Amino acid sequence: MDLQKLVRQNIWNLKPYSSARDEFKGEASVYLDANENPYNNDVNRYPDPLQWEVKEKISQIKGVAIKKIMLGNGSDEPIDLVFRVFCEPGIDNVVAIDPTYGMYQVSADINNVEYRKVLLNSDFDFNSDNLLQKTDKNTKAIFLCSPNNPTGNSLNRNEIVKTIENFAGIVVVDEAYIDFSSQKSFLNELDKYPNLIVLQTFSKAWAGAGIRLGMAFASEEIIRLFNKVKYPYNVNKLTQNYALNLLNNYQEVRDKVATILEERAKLQQELSNLSCVEKAYPTDSNFLLIKVGDADNMYQQLVNKGIIVRNRNKISLCMNCLRITVGTPEENKELITELANL
Ligand SMILES: *Cc1c(COP(=O)(O)O)cnc(C)c1O
Repeated sequence: MDLQKLVRQNIWNLKPYSSARDEFKGEASVYLDANENPYNNDVNRYPDPLQWEVKEKISQIKGVAIKKIMLGNGSDEPIDLVFRVFCEPGIDNVVAIDPTYGMYQVSADINNVEYRKVLLNSDFDFNSDNLLQKTDKNTKAIFLCSPNNPTGNSLNRNEIVKTIENFAGIVVVDEAYIDFSSQKSFLNELDKYPNLIVLQTFSKAWAGAGIRLGMAFASEEIIRLFNKVKYPYNVNKLTQNYALNLLNNYQEVRDKVATILEERAKLQQELSNLSCVEKAYPTDSNFLLIKVGDADNMYQQLVNKGIIVRNRNKISLCMNCLRITVGTPEENKELITELANL
């Protein structure tokens, strides 16, 4: 893979903004270099532009070198960076599975980059050859999501590997739900594949959707490009502090994930037993996709009871499907009770 050929020329040549914090790193007693208010209130100073402390903790937990980690304002930011770094608007394209997470297409549309969809099989899996057939010389990236949203299943690992190995551009593997999955993460494959970008997030298993913190893992060269293009202070200080707190309490997060997984198994069983549910699809994530007789109607009836699920009726392959997040034991019980009464 020739990275320079994949990257937009203006980005390759870009001289990034240099902040006060970039130009002086180290300890000093008097900081008069950034036009900050000198009176300490915990947020009067600019935050660390490269979030060193947070990344150090992530690096320990994930076993990935700090220089291979980029943090963003949610996963939304690294998704957008893939387009801004690699895709020339109006010329280049990306290929993605369908159905999948909606942000890839939105980001493509915003950046005026053609978005090519390849329908999943009826078991919500994909075939690498079908995907690669959709690529051409202007295809800069392929988006895969595993476990996939909204279908819940993990994609076939061998097909993902074949895609990475046989595509000359970037392959993004979005692992937002990896902590709920029985499958191995692709983080361990980063050294093997210079064209791989793995996305993870604090929004799901880490119970941090409100702090907006996404993680991108890739080669040092790709991370350098992302860091060059991102806003200098893209992750604010409150978020960095809160993330450190979550990372220092990793065991608590793991315990909650274990509880969610127990609840998921129970919910899957109970949903399958309901006569109003035609099918509860297998899941490797913290949500379940179910097929029902009339999804619009069931959605509205649940709304009337104060229970909000995601109506996926209009999504490819998801006709009459609802997507249900695994909640607390009480919430799940309430859902089952209401569904049984419909
Ligand atoms: C929820 C989700 C994310 C998380 O996005 P954030 O911007 O980090 O909140 C990323 N990818 C997928 C597939 C998701 O479902």
